[in-house]
Amino acid sequence: MNIPTSKPEGDLYPKLRLLVLFRILFASILLGSTVILQLSEDAALSSKPLLILYGLIAGILILSLVYAVMLPRIRRVTLFAFVQIAVDTIVVTLIVFATGGYLSFFSFLYLVVIIYSSVLLNRRGSMVMAVVCGLQYSMMIGLEHYGILIPLGLEGHPLPLEYEWSRILYKVMFTVLACFAVAFLSGFLAEQTRRTRGELKDMEDHVKRVEKLASMGEMAAGLAHEIKNPLASLAGSIQILKEELSYSPENHKLMQIVLRETDRLNSLVSDFLLFAKPPQGNLEKVKLDRALEETLELFEKGSAYADRISIKRQLLPDIWVEMDPVHLRQVLWNLLLNASEAIEGRGTIIVTMSSHRARKVSIAVADTGVGIPEACLKNIYDPFFTTKTRGTGLGLSIVHRIIESYASRMDVESEPGIGTTFRFRLNRVYPKGA
Ligand code: ADP
Ligand code: MG
Repeated sequence: MNIPTSKPEGDLYPKLRLLVLFRILFASILLGSTVILQLSEDAALSSKPLLILYGLIAGILILSLVYAVMLPRIRRVTLFAFVQIAVDTIVVTLIVFATGGYLSFFSFLYLVVIIYSSVLLNRRGSMVMAVVCGLQYSMMIGLEHYGILIPLGLEGHPLPLEYEWSRILYKVMFTVLACFAVAFLSGFLAEQTRRTRGELKDMEDHVKRVEKLASMGEMAAGLAHEIKNPLASLAGSIQILKEELSYSPENHKLMQIVLRETDRLNSLVSDFLLFAKPPQGNLEKVKLDRALEETLELFEKGSAYADRISIKRQLLPDIWVEMDPVHLRQVLWNLLLNASEAIEGRGTIIVTMSSHRARKVSIAVADTGVGIPEACLKNIYDPFFTTKTRGTGLGLSIVHRIIESYASRMDVESEPGIGTTFRFRLNRVYPKGA
């Protein structure tokens, strides 16, 4: 399974659109409250801070318009998001400046910007924004403190340079720290959400696969059953004919072909039935390393691949699962067969057991084979999907059906040219006296 920590690029467009709306909303609220303030305090429209505020509101609205027009034409969305957010930090600094600088209660807006930056950018991006915000704020307060900038709207208030130096430092440090803490926390949460969404997507794919297989299976199972009976009579009749007919090398060859092909058809149909209607398993408590080892030895002895493929194992002792041993053998056998077929020339298969939690054990079969192209990955569990000239495409669909009947699922990771790993998990059991 490729845990896709879903690429942020793809869903950045709708988020940016939302951000534009959010800015317009914010500008409207700011406009409303400024008008109310102006009316209630009966301030002249020409007062400098009010003019600046109105100017800023107009600026935000114009910028929003520009963004909205540009958005559909932009290719490098991440960069675009970065620029927008950087501009936002400057706007916030201007708002803070216009509403009293050191005394402004709008400094919390920095935190809002950082929060949505972590949704739009990655973690590093929101940290950069925290630095940018912190720098702007502390520079502005510093300049005010030394009297270089005179904050607006402070008529009647004491100027910040009359405050104690330590109190200013305290406030600046507190704000900057808050910026970093928020960047860290919201970045962490955003990452978490992205990962969860990736896992959810995997689950969804799995469920779709199961539904598809189940419906295909039911339909075809009936048909396969019907094929088995005539096939058996066909093979029987040929056997009898073979004995009755006078011997000729020509006839013998033809009969041989018929028998071989009926055999092939028969095993195909049996395999297919196994996929379509896996027999109810006989649950047994199985000592996993022993069961795996048995199948591995059988495979090493019985297969045509033994001389060019070495099988390594990393098994854990004393781990038990409840499973039909026949199922376990079928799963492992199919995975080993596929792995061997994927290896051209010499290669290695590694069978690994791992158990990081007390209730689960994970089994992985990794090969150094040709790998699976990305485009094939979603099809490999489909019945009859094969890339081999003599393949049936049933192996993995059977494996999938079996594993799914144990309320687990198959995961695959593959890198073309390097190799493939199939993995599944089983529930551990703890038999008494074991
Ligand atoms: P078959 O082996 O008959 O082709 P399977 O269902 O077992 O059918 O596998 C389906 C397809 O998945 C294979 O044809 C192959 O393309 C791909 N595949 C399965 N296992 C591996 C593997 N270990 N390495 C590379 N490709 C694999
Ligand atoms: Mg196969």
